[in-house]
Amino acid sequence: MTADDNPPPKPQPAAKARVCPNCGKPRSERYDPFCSKRCADVDLHRWLKGGYVIPGAESGERESEPEDED
Ligand SMILES: [Zn+2]
Repeated sequence: MTADDNPPPKPQPAAKARVCPNCGKPRSERYDPFCSKRCADVDLHRWLKGGYVIPGAESGERESEPEDED
């Protein structure tokens, strides 16, 4: 083995989809693993309600709706 054989550096090492599971935006340290309090609340409420959708909180949200299939 030689050092000349090492692979090129990855753009995001050890970054396993560090994004908000609710909307896909970069998550915030404050609201980890979410990006904002809104997403945290949405997810929490949904979790508690067992699938209940919060009115007016679905902006940019996509679940079980594959758009790449037309
Ligand atoms: Zn979010």
